[in-house]
Amino acid sequence: MPYDYDDQNIFAKILRGEIPNDTVMETEHSLAFRDITPQAPVHVLVIPKGPYVCHDHFAAQASDAEIVDFMRLTARICATEGISPGEGGEGFRVIGNAGEHALQEVPHYHLHILGGRNLGALLEKQ
Ligand code: AMP
Repeated sequence: MPYDYDDQNIFAKILRGEIPNDTVMETEHSLAFRDITPQAPVHVLVIPKGPYVCHDHFAAQASDAEIVDFMRLTARICATEGISPGEGGEGFRVIGNAGEHALQEVPHYHLHILGGRNLGALLEKQ
Protein backbone atom coordinates (compact mmCIF):
# COMPACT_ATOMS: atom_id res chain seq x y z
CA MET A 1 0.00 0.00 0.00
CA PRO A 2 1.50 3.40 -0.88
CA TYR A 3 2.16 5.90 1.87
CA ASP A 4 -0.44 8.63 2.32
CA TYR A 5 1.18 11.92 3.42
CA ASP A 6 -0.80 14.11 5.86
CA ASP A 7 0.16 17.73 5.19
CA GLN A 8 -1.30 18.86 8.54
CA ASN A 9 1.54 17.24 10.53
CA ILE A 10 3.67 19.54 12.68
CA PHE A 11 6.80 19.35 10.54
CA ALA A 12 4.81 20.27 7.43
CA LYS A 13 3.62 23.33 9.39
CA ILE A 14 7.23 24.16 10.31
CA LEU A 15 8.23 23.90 6.63
CA ARG A 16 5.38 26.25 5.65
CA GLY A 17 6.51 28.73 8.33
CA GLU A 18 3.26 28.36 10.27
CA ILE A 19 5.05 27.50 13.52
CA PRO A 20 8.56 28.47 14.63
CA ASN A 21 11.57 26.21 14.92
CA ASP A 22 15.14 26.45 16.18
CA THR A 23 16.93 26.02 12.85
CA VAL A 24 20.47 24.65 12.87
CA MET A 25 21.00 24.55 9.11
CA GLU A 26 18.91 24.68 5.93
CA THR A 27 19.68 23.50 2.40
CA GLU A 28 17.76 23.44 -0.88
CA HIS A 29 15.98 20.18 -0.03
CA SER A 30 16.35 19.73 3.74
CA LEU A 31 16.00 21.45 7.11
CA ALA A 32 17.73 20.69 10.42
CA PHE A 33 16.36 22.05 13.70
CA ARG A 34 16.63 21.31 17.42
CA ASP A 35 14.18 18.86 18.97
CA ILE A 36 11.73 20.65 21.25
CA THR A 37 12.18 17.91 23.90
CA PRO A 38 15.88 17.07 23.71
CA GLN A 39 16.93 13.61 24.88
CA ALA A 40 20.65 14.45 24.85
CA PRO A 41 22.84 17.59 24.87
CA VAL A 42 22.77 17.43 21.07
CA HIS A 43 19.37 16.45 19.63
CA VAL A 44 18.85 17.70 16.11
CA LEU A 45 16.09 16.60 13.72
CA VAL A 46 16.84 16.52 10.01
CA ILE A 47 13.87 16.52 7.63
CA PRO A 48 13.48 16.57 3.87
CA LYS A 49 11.35 19.42 2.52
CA GLY A 50 9.41 16.97 0.34
CA PRO A 51 6.28 15.07 1.46
CA TYR A 52 7.72 11.77 2.70
CA VAL A 53 6.30 9.84 5.66
CA CYS A 54 9.26 7.76 6.82
CA HIS A 55 12.58 6.23 5.86
CA ASP A 56 11.56 3.65 3.27
CA HIS A 57 9.14 6.10 1.64
CA PHE A 58 11.92 8.67 1.29
CA ALA A 59 14.57 6.15 0.21
CA ALA A 60 12.29 4.70 -2.49
CA GLN A 61 10.57 7.84 -3.79
CA ALA A 62 12.86 10.85 -3.30
CA SER A 63 15.11 12.07 -6.09
CA ASP A 64 18.83 11.43 -6.02
CA ALA A 65 19.35 15.16 -5.39
CA GLU A 66 17.03 15.12 -2.35
CA ILE A 67 18.70 12.03 -0.89
CA VAL A 68 22.23 13.33 -1.35
CA ASP A 69 21.28 16.74 0.07
CA PHE A 70 19.67 15.12 3.11
CA MET A 71 22.52 12.72 3.85
CA ARG A 72 25.21 15.35 3.38
CA LEU A 73 23.33 17.67 5.74
CA THR A 74 23.36 15.00 8.46
CA ALA A 75 27.16 14.83 8.10
CA ARG A 76 27.50 18.60 8.32
CA ILE A 77 25.38 18.67 11.48
CA CYS A 78 27.55 15.98 13.13
CA ALA A 79 30.66 17.98 12.27
CA THR A 80 29.37 21.38 13.35
CA GLU A 81 27.84 20.01 16.58
CA GLY A 82 31.25 18.52 17.48
CA ILE A 83 30.03 14.93 17.79
CA SER A 84 31.65 13.33 14.73
CA PRO A 85 34.37 10.81 15.66
CA GLY A 86 35.98 11.66 12.33
CA GLU A 87 36.40 15.25 13.55
CA GLY A 88 37.58 14.44 17.09
CA GLY A 89 34.09 14.17 18.61
CA GLU A 90 32.94 11.43 20.97
CA GLY A 91 30.24 9.95 18.78
CA PHE A 92 26.55 10.08 18.02
CA ARG A 93 23.51 7.97 17.15
CA VAL A 94 21.13 8.47 14.24
CA ILE A 95 17.58 7.18 14.69
CA GLY A 96 14.71 7.11 12.20
CA ASN A 97 11.39 5.90 13.57
CA ALA A 98 8.74 4.49 11.23
CA GLY A 99 5.21 3.51 12.15
CA GLU A 100 3.58 2.05 15.23
CA HIS A 101 6.23 -0.34 16.48
CA ALA A 102 8.85 2.40 16.40
CA LEU A 103 6.44 4.87 18.09
CA GLN A 104 6.77 7.41 15.27
CA GLU A 105 4.93 10.53 16.49
CA VAL A 106 5.29 12.86 13.53
CA PRO A 107 4.41 11.39 10.11
CA HIS A 108 6.96 13.43 8.18
CA TYR A 109 10.29 11.67 7.65
CA HIS A 110 13.00 12.75 10.06
CA LEU A 111 16.26 11.51 11.47
CA HIS A 112 17.17 12.20 15.07
CA ILE A 113 20.87 13.00 15.54
CA LEU A 114 21.76 12.46 19.20
CA GLY A 115 25.06 13.03 20.97
CA GLY A 116 26.93 14.87 23.67
CA ARG A 117 26.64 12.06 26.25
CA ASN A 118 26.97 8.29 26.45
CA LEU A 119 23.77 7.09 24.78
CA GLY A 120 23.66 3.63 26.35
CA ALA A 121 22.32 0.49 24.71
CA LEU A 122 20.55 0.67 21.38
CA LEU A 123 17.30 -0.82 22.72
CA GLU A 124 15.80 -1.47 26.13
CA LYS A 125 15.97 -5.12 27.13
CA GLN A 126 12.55 -6.80 26.96
P1 AMP B 1 9.30 10.61 16.43
O1 AMP B 1 8.75 9.88 17.62
O2 AMP B 1 10.48 9.92 15.82
O3 AMP B 1 8.21 10.91 15.42
O4 AMP B 1 9.88 11.97 16.98
C1 AMP B 1 9.21 13.20 16.88
C2 AMP B 1 10.07 14.22 17.59
O5 AMP B 1 9.63 15.51 17.22
C3 AMP B 1 10.05 14.14 19.11
O6 AMP B 1 11.37 13.94 19.60
C4 AMP B 1 9.50 15.53 19.52
O7 AMP B 1 10.10 16.03 20.69
C5 AMP B 1 9.82 16.37 18.29
N1 AMP B 1 8.97 17.53 18.08
C6 AMP B 1 7.62 17.57 18.10
N2 AMP B 1 7.19 18.81 17.82
C7 AMP B 1 8.30 19.57 17.62
C8 AMP B 1 8.52 20.95 17.30
N3 AMP B 1 7.50 21.80 17.13
N4 AMP B 1 9.79 21.38 17.17
C9 AMP B 1 10.82 20.52 17.36
N5 AMP B 1 10.68 19.22 17.64
C10 AMP B 1 9.43 18.74 17.79
